Amino acid sequence: MRKQIAAANWKMNLSYQQAAGLLDELLAQQIELAPNQEVIFAVPFPYLAMAKEKVAGKTNYFVAAQNCSDKKSGAYTGETSVEQLQSIGIGHIVIGHSERREYYNESNAVLATKVDLCLAAGVTPIFCCGEPLPIREAETQNAFVQQQLEESLFHLTVEQVSKVVIAYEPIWAIGTGKTASTQQAQDMQQHLRKVLADKFGADVADGISILYGGSVKAANAVEIFASPDVDGGLVGGASLQAAEFTAIIQALK
Ligand code: 13P
Repeated sequence: MRKQIAAANWKMNLSYQQAAGLLDELLAQQIELAPNQEVIFAVPFPYLAMAKEKVAGKTNYFVAAQNCSDKKSGAYTGETSVEQLQSIGIGHIVIGHSERREYYNESNAVLATKVDLCLAAGVTPIFCCGEPLPIREAETQNAFVQQQLEESLFHLTVEQVSKVVIAYEPIWAIGTGKTASTQQAQDMQQHLRKVLADKFGADVADGISILYGGSVKAANAVEIFASPDVDGGLVGGASLQAAEFTAIIQALK
């Protein structure tokens, strides 16, 4: 059975005190997760250790970094390596969020390197993909997102790709309050699963969790997550509010 995942992407929000308070409030809900369900908090770097401590002992709750360096180690001032993150017990890293692709010029090739570094360290990459509005308007989104997968994931072995989580986040739906329709999300994610099946085999594709991201909130999570190829969500704004994110966790299949 594929993992169903509610992942919070806090982005560059919250003070340390607010972040600790939000985690305390959420974890106090004691939401019971089924064995195939996971909750992941992608928090700012300075809060990783604190968040790790708070989820310690909670089954299927994890903490993720939002980015990592594309270099292994060395003289790269201000960067943080996968191995450093792994050494403090971080097991998941968000790779290639559209904000990093857009504002920090991260290319599919650089993201392929980051995916490799994650897998080499035994860390799960949460690989983000998704098209900008002009591509959606031109109705070429399937080919566009397929190319992102081809250029960043297709060099992997079957064993490696099985360890990747994919998040489809149409850029026009991020932070805009405009979600993809349930049908648009399902159509793309079914397409991506087929692309993975053609390359890596149906069994492998069947086992890969594909999350949807873009204006997921309590009010739409049940409907979005109900689609057969949507295995949960990567949630920005709504993950900053305990009640909203609690409802989103409870919407997992
Ligand atoms: P919003 O949920 O705020 O639209 O953000 C989505 C996102 O970018 C999650 O990574």
